[in-house]
Amino acid sequence: MKLALLTPAAKREGLRERMRRSRAAAPALREAFPVVQQLRLDFLFQGSGPSTPAMQSHTLHAAARAFFAFPCPYADCDGEFDLNGAVRSALAHASHQATGEIECSGKRSARHGVIAPCRLRLDYAVSAALQPQT
Ligand SMILES: [Zn+2]
Repeated sequence: MKLALLTPAAKREGLRERMRRSRAAAPALREAFPVVQQLRLDFLFQGSGPSTPAMQSHTLHAAARAFFAFPCPYADCDGEFDLNGAVRSALAHASHQATGEIECSGKRSARHGVIAPCRLRLDYAVSAALQPQT
């Protein structure tokens, strides 16, 4: 029996669908982390190619879903960046901040059908604003 080979584009569609479902199923931020008023995630990308994706900034309010995975910004990549650990370490730290880097482990198919590892580097900064004490 032969295993079906999924192209990165097909895998990316699957990833998008899976992420959409996971986000819909995630609890609200205020349920998962009642102390958090707002979360801010800043992304700076460092690629080796000529077209490095633009910076991204995401602000999540208390009503937003507590879902911290983001697809790789390259349209032909099937990778994702998982910021769950980063968010948790920010909340665990006294400063309510965390910084670090993650490398994309996805695969890209752009170059004439040749599938290559992405390795896009994401430098992130996570900061949490907590609910005012009452
Ligand atoms: Zn990627």
